[in-house]
Amino acid sequence: MQVQVMKNILGENDKIAAENRRLFHDKKILAINLMGSPGSGKTSLLEKILSKLAEKINVAVIEGDLFTAKDAERIERQNIPVIQINTAGGCHLDAAMVKRAAESLNLDEINLLIVENVGNLVCPAEFDVGENFKAVVLSITEGDDKPLKYPLIFKESAVTLLNKIDLLPYTNFNLANAREDLSTIHPAIKIFETSCINGAGLDEFCNWILEKIDEVKL
Ligand code: MG
Ligand code: ZN
Repeated sequence: MQVQVMKNILGENDKIAAENRRLFHDKKILAINLMGSPGSGKTSLLEKILSKLAEKINVAVIEGDLFTAKDAERIERQNIPVIQINTAGGCHLDAAMVKRAAESLNLDEINLLIVENVGNLVCPAEFDVGENFKAVVLSITEGDDKPLKYPLIFKESAVTLLNKIDLLPYTNFNLANAREDLSTIHPAIKIFETSCINGAGLDEFCNWILEKIDEVKL
């Protein structure tokens, strides 16, 4: 019974996600579903890369949050179009929420749409929202055991950002082990080591996104 209910929910979600994907494709928009735990640094990373990317392309953001607009306000301060979704306690975004939010954006003027998901390493990975790819932020302070403990999100993501890499000397995070586990779970995964404090890896990540945008435009 339980299993059937979940199958129906995901089936309906996939239908709407496919509509979103078709829409983004028609508008030549690259859509990224950005995931990670609360406090992993998703919004800080966004602030940093948006300031670099906004010089070259038109970006918009959809911010998922349980109750507040705190993250959306941070993005808005950079004069980036941002739509807030409050899930009222819901622990992930689904395709219908993203569809409704996207209706409030001028999609003809956007090259890149970043969806910051609710902070959670579990169910956001199960819900396709119509993105081109998923990206997961894993901060050094969370520990190197997370890829093996939450394999689905790393399997589903095209890219992992090992964030707060500047804190590596102050933790027992084993970078070699983490990279090996990530490659075991998802051999094709792209890994960036990033820091919003010293700026490590941010230009590389931005350049990689710009390459992906070029592929979408073709
Ligand atoms: Mg955030
Ligand atoms: Zn959830």
